[in-house]
Amino acid sequence: MKKVLNILLAFVAFTSGVGAYHFTEVQDFTVDFVSQFEEEKVELSASVIKEEFVQKEQEMHSVAQVELEKKKYERDGLTIDLPESFDAIAREVLSSIPESQTRSLTRIIGEHGKDAKRGLASFKSMYIGIDNIETDEEFRRVFIHELGHILDLGGLKASSRKIDSGFRDGSNVIYNTDASLDFYTLCWDTEHDLSGQCSDLDFVSEYAQADSFEDFAESYLLFVENNESFVEMAKESEVLQKKYNFFAETVFNGKFENTAKAELPKEDRVWDLTKVY
Ligand SMILES: [Zn+2]
Repeated sequence: MKKVLNILLAFVAFTSGVGAYHFTEVQDFTVDFVSQFEEEKVELSASVIKEEFVQKEQEMHSVAQVELEKKKYERDGLTIDLPESFDAIAREVLSSIPESQTRSLTRIIGEHGKDAKRGLASFKSMYIGIDNIETDEEFRRVFIHELGHILDLGGLKASSRKIDSGFRDGSNVIYNTDASLDFYTLCWDTEHDLSGQCSDLDFVSEYAQADSFEDFAESYLLFVENNESFVEMAKESEVLQKKYNFFAETVFNGKFENTAKAELPKEDRVWDLTKVY
């Protein structure tokens, strides 16, 4: 019954355009790319990026110039094609999180039209339905949610590709050394099958129950933009505490700042954290 319910949930979300999704692109990069990435992953950290930023800030003596510099965030191999206000937010968010988390991202493309999904991401591409996002705040949340998919599918890679975990991202096999499995297996037997060990309050939102990837992306969004609420919600749920610890330790390696937004209810869950609550 629960499985039928979450398939229905995902289907309704997808067809009505209220959710923010992931899609599968075949993992076509080579093992060399993976090992090169793993080395970079160790080197880059939030504190390094922040130190560089603070140094630049001191050199520039001007808030306006600092804003301009933030907006200029760019890196080789990344194309951003978004309206101006969304572009500035995207670059600001990217500059505030460790680059290792989004290293596999190659393009962020804005799509017009009411049929476009608000957000869609694979391990390397992100599409934003710009006509279906009403405010800058909503864009920021959709964007961070989609970055969660980029991190999950492209950032956290298996260290060896020998043993199949049974989880699939479409046709892509997820190997048993993929760090995302430490998160998935808290509530999931496969990407679509809940293990039956988690209750509604063990998820950060209702949409997080759609599949293991949405669980990951919604939890990442809450950790990045409102981790004080995550801490509060985790006081009521051992599973949520483990999800929180996964991001705090495995993903951010203990280096992150407290963030706070409107407090979320402890006894209930919002449908979708990308919508303003
Ligand atoms: Zn999603």
